[in-house]
Order: sequence, then C-alpha cells, then structure tokens
Amino acid sequence: MASKIRFCLFFHGTIGNDCNWNLAMSHPATVDQPDRPARWVKIPVISVLFEHPDLGYVLWDTGPHPAVTGGAWLPPAERELFFLESNPDQTLEQQLRLVGISPRNINLLILSHLHWDHAGGLVYFQKTEAGEKIIVAEEEFKYALLKTHQKKNCFCQDGYCRHDFVLSDIQFDFWNHTGELARDFTLLALPGHTPCVLGVMVKVNSGDYYLFPGDALFTRANLEPEPHPPGLIYDSLAFYRSVELIKAWKRRYRAQLIYPHDSEQFKFLRLAPQWYE
Ligand SMILES: [Zn+2]
Repeated sequence: MASKIRFCLFFHGTIGNDCNWNLAMSHPATVDQPDRPARWVKIPVISVLFEHPDLGYVLWDTGPHPAVTGGAWLPPAERELFFLESNPDQTLEQQLRLVGISPRNINLLILSHLHWDHAGGLVYFQKTEAGEKIIVAEEEFKYALLKTHQKKNCFCQDGYCRHDFVLSDIQFDFWNHTGELARDFTLLALPGHTPCVLGVMVKVNSGDYYLFPGDALFTRANLEPEPHPPGLIYDSLAFYRSVELIKAWKRRYRAQLIYPHDSEQFKFLRLAPQWYE
C-alpha cells in the first residue's frame, strides 16, 4: 500500500437533461422570448478512488447501476427527463480494472448520497469487505428509504432507486458531521441538494488539497460568480449554508474543487489510469 495519499477519477458516461435541473431557472422564458426553447445539456458522471496509507483503497461513489446503460433500469418517467449515455467500458467494474483492481480490493466505500448516478454500483459490493460498512449520511439513508417505499410503484422516486441500495449482504455505517475520517482525509456534511451529501477533502502526496463537494455543487456555476442552487433541491437554505462551508475550506486550504457534473471542467481533468498525487 502506498505511503502517501493519491487519487484517480473514473468516468461513467454522461447524463443528458434540461439545464434547469443543474442550475435552477437558468434558462427561463422571457417577455421577448415567451416560447424560448428549453436547453438540453450533457453532464459527466464520475467517481473517485483514493489510496490512503491507513485506510487502503477508498472509493467515493460508484456511478450508475450497470443496467442503466440503455435505459432498462430507470422507470419511463425518469428516463424521459434524464438519459444516461454510457458504454460497457464505463461501469465501475471496468473502470476499476484500469488501475488493476476489482470491487473486492476496495477497503472502504463512501457514498456522497443515494441518487442513482452515484449509488447504482453498490450491487458490486454484496459480500465484500467494503460492503460490510458503507459510509453514508443517516438523514440521506432515511429519506431515500422513505421516498422509495411510501407509495405504490414508487421504487424510483426523486432520483432514488430502491433497487440500488436495498440489497442483501450489505450494511451501512452512518456519518453525519464534518470531520477527519483519517489523516489528511476529511468528510464534509453538505445538506441542500439532498438531506445530506458527504463531500471529501484530501491532501495528496505533493501537499496540494483537493475538495470534492459532490452534488452539493453540480458545477462551478452553482458557486460562482454567486451561489446559485440547482433545480434538484431538497433544502434551499441549507444549500447556501453548505456553500459557505465549502468556500471556507477552499480558502483555508487553497483547495482545488473538483465538481461532480461540470462538463467544462471535465475537459481538463485527467482520468484513470492516471493518478493525482
Ligand atoms: Zn449526481
């Protein structure tokens, strides 16, 4: 195991959706253009593998369920709004292969939240070491269960897919605050987009800090020039508080933000098998 921290980025395809989901009311009809057409955007889906001297291989998020490719997994209403374009090389299993490992080699799995584009790869972790203690925020877990069990035919509701996380042979370990999980590896509790997104901040071998806000900030446009919530929002006031927390940590550690769904930034990211170290 490496003596210093490093990470690599996995790419799980792109989601096509209306731009207003990512940036609320960013493309409204106007007096001059009352019939202005909606704007369709394509955003990347990523997960992150960290190598940590004490924790081992830590995976943050898993990408979508392998069956989502082609649309078989999501119900028609969801497929109408969000279309995943991906290929078989972009499943979590194949992405892990790029760095020579498999789900069985992962020592710890952290889920930023339980939406289908982040939690679908949980299916790979049944009966694994990481599957015995998956870290997720308790409020997130409760809300996802509620959303996917309260009505008839609601197995997929508001971005949560019951089949993604109601699985045999996995257990969860709840983490609800901002604090250090291990040396130079901090989890940030970031409510807003959902009841609680868990972001990560790490200091890598070179001494540089990287902050992963998860879907607390889909893209740079949710942060700059002014905080701007997404259309997919659970608690808009909490969104602004989470933005302040992210800004404070970014400033204090001169951390570089890596957004989860930013197609502009994505052009400049290095993907696995390359490492940031
Ligand atoms: Zn997402």
